[in-house]
Amino acid sequence: MKIYTYGNPVLRKKSKKVRNIDKETLQIVKDMFDTMEQTTPKGIGLAAIQVGVPIAIFIYKLEDDSGAIINPEIIERSGQELGEEGCLSVPGIYAPIERAEKILVKGIDLKGRRFETELLGIKARVFQHEIDHLNGIIFTDYINELEVLSVEEGYEVPEELIDKLVK
Ligand SMILES: [Zn+2]
Repeated sequence: MKIYTYGNPVLRKKSKKVRNIDKETLQIVKDMFDTMEQTTPKGIGLAAIQVGVPIAIFIYKLEDDSGAIINPEIIERSGQELGEEGCLSVPGIYAPIERAEKILVKGIDLKGRRFETELLGIKARVFQHEIDHLNGIIFTDYINELEVLSVEEGYEVPEELIDKLVK
């Protein structure tokens, strides 16, 4: 699967809720994991919209935990925490982003089971970042000056992002 990058209008689409988890849904999730596995550096989260599929699913893979979440929704947020973020759709670009420290999130797993869970730390951050994607939001939307971005060697800030930040 191709990962769409900053500037592509598909990333601004709102993802639709998944109504039934069928074979096709499971195949998309599998392909998303394969796609994320092939990225360097390896991504820790990927929303379906980033591969051009506008349905409310994202996957995550942390050191000791991975999964796919369907129709996620944040019910409660508390605290604030600043942390460095990057995105497979904005490769090589990082920025400190303020997120809720703790979230209560609900969603559906691949077996169709509803769940509700409280999250902290990196997992809470990844979930907030990915759920933003489902609403057409990219992490750099929280930035209003170019200076806060860190650019990894060999990468450039996308032109569309420069245009947005330098007026
Ligand atoms: Zn992202």
